[in-house]
Amino acid sequence: MNIEIVTIGDELLLGFTIDTNAAHLARELAALGVRIVRRATCGDDADAIAAAVREALERTGAVITTGGLGPTADDMTKPAIGSIFGRGMVLDPDILVALEARWLKRFGHELPASNRQQAMVPERATILANRHGSAPGIWLEDDRQRWVAMLPGVPREMRGMLADTLIPQLRERLPVGGSVVRSKTLRTANIAESALADKLGDLARGVDGLSLAYLPGNDGVDLRLTSHGRPARDTEQRLTAAAQRVREKVGRFIYGEGDDDLAALMLAECAARNATIAVAESCTGGLLGMRLTAVPGSSRVVQGGTIAYANAVKVRELGVAQSDLDAHGAVSEPVARAMATGARLRFGTTIGIGITGIAGPDGGTPEKPVGTVWVAVDMDGEVHAVRAVLPGDRSEIRYRAAQLALDRLRRAFEHDVDATGWTARG
Ligand code: AMP
Ligand code: MG
Repeated sequence: MNIEIVTIGDELLLGFTIDTNAAHLARELAALGVRIVRRATCGDDADAIAAAVREALERTGAVITTGGLGPTADDMTKPAIGSIFGRGMVLDPDILVALEARWLKRFGHELPASNRQQAMVPERATILANRHGSAPGIWLEDDRQRWVAMLPGVPREMRGMLADTLIPQLRERLPVGGSVVRSKTLRTANIAESALADKLGDLARGVDGLSLAYLPGNDGVDLRLTSHGRPARDTEQRLTAAAQRVREKVGRFIYGEGDDDLAALMLAECAARNATIAVAESCTGGLLGMRLTAVPGSSRVVQGGTIAYANAVKVRELGVAQSDLDAHGAVSEPVARAMATGARLRFGTTIGIGITGIAGPDGGTPEKPVGTVWVAVDMDGEVHAVRAVLPGDRSEIRYRAAQLALDRLRRAFEHDVDATGWTARG
């Protein structure tokens, strides 16, 4: 099945709102076996909406829109699309009753006049229930089985309605055993794209007929395997088998799958081992602590930390030796090690993590360019340190330094601490 998407809203055209709805629809529908063949965006203008949807209908006969279902004057999706089908607007008594009940229950007063508008629907429309908000979705279909599904603009409501109502409805229209697009992502840290490709060798361009994409980001490079045009029943098995072949080539650099968060994975690992963590952060300024404590349940593992930005604080709060600072500088192996150990001892944890580096844009030297970071992990008194020269601007370097520290912790758990940190390309 081929579908076109039309997202509606002036804020999308102006760039104030990023069109996440189109991206979400594309991902979900591809997994179902629906091909999105074109996407369009138009403003809150009845003629523009009608023109975009009419053209899309002429091409594919199947269109999903988002936005413009709200109660205000700029919400004109329903009448604009109704006009394409030659349908006038009528009051739907069931929607009105539901809206009145919702208002009384939630706000304790009567439905405002503007919201009555939301009970107006094109003639002979099918209502798509909205359990996540007030604006119901609409399905309009003509006698040639050409259809438009109108979903709300608010992303949470749109996602809910898609999952609850529209996907089950589309599934019934899809051929049994039809082909789907499915992906599996393997997440790597501390290895550059080119080094991954080298390790993958003859798998670098694809695995057993599945495509392989390299998606670099601040967490590291994600490797995404995608299966196109095969039936759902053997797709999962092929993805799992292909992922296994990739793991055999780059295993130690892979920390997770899908949208796994390295901080959450490390907290789970600590909890399983009854380990506790304290952090000592210089260039990351608390970012590692933030990532760890963002995970629910982190209080069982994380005890606390020190933002030791100034040298005097490194000495006073963490017991870093002034002589090491003088001899090696703040961004150095002995200082990172002393920070990790200082954190562990002062907070009474089993693990201490130290991070010190040059986030830039100033402060680099030929020996220690911007991006130079030392990370140390003290695990029950055994300390491992690593140096890396991280690419990117200040915020990327800071984020990557925290990710490097988490990955060092992972390696320490796996007794795999010999590998060096990554370096900037070129
Ligand atoms: P609407 O249903 O058009 O009144 O949209 C309500 C709100 O949903 C807007 O203010 C936007 O913040 C958000 N929104 C609308 N369309 C999109 C979209 N395509 N992607 C992400 N957010 C959207
Ligand atoms: Mg709008």
